[in-house]
Amino acid sequence: MILEKIKIKLNFPDPRFWKYFIGHQFILQPNERTILGNKIEVENDLHKKIIVFGSWYPYAYDFEKYSEYQKNIEIEREKKHEERKLFYENLKKEAIEFNNSLEIPVKWSSEIKQVLSGLSEKSSGNGWKKNTVRHIYLHESFSSGRLKREAKNFLCSQVKSKYSGNWSGTLGENGLEYKVNCQKCLEISNKLKTKNSK
Ligand SMILES: [Zn+2]
Repeated sequence: MILEKIKIKLNFPDPRFWKYFIGHQFILQPNERTILGNKIEVENDLHKKIIVFGSWYPYAYDFEKYSEYQKNIEIEREKKHEERKLFYENLKKEAIEFNNSLEIPVKWSSEIKQVLSGLSEKSSGNGWKKNTVRHIYLHESFSSGRLKREAKNFLCSQVKSKYSGNWSGTLGENGLEYKVNCQKCLEISNKLKTKNSK
């Protein structure tokens, strides 16, 4: 990428100029030589070059190379986006598989406790954070031996949840797209599994 620092005579009466350009990339095509209606004078011959503002110093790039460069950035961005998408899709697939292997006798979903206090689960963008603890949230009451749980409670909570009834989350795709990782919830569900297989 050919990049040269250039000297431009900036004789703008318009004080908005720097405010307008600093921090924003602004590109002048080879055949375009006015900004905000002001003609700019360039020292070098820049017939086939474009001028890029975006810092205190304007630069000149070879027009074709710059287009190529931008195209590559776009391709790279698209690739990263696809990788990210795939990563979350796999994570979701794995979570659904894992959650389906838990043998909970009633309708349930994987939830975080904060959802119930009004915080949006989606606030982290894709709803997924490494440290988030996800529990088994029961939609229906059930009892198995000595274990009893009312509907709208977490499997790990012995006492009726204070959040009960205020559930404001969305079920999403069966509500199982996030892997349960609360150790207590998993312990209890394992006990249920052993019991069921007896
Ligand atoms: Zn739990």
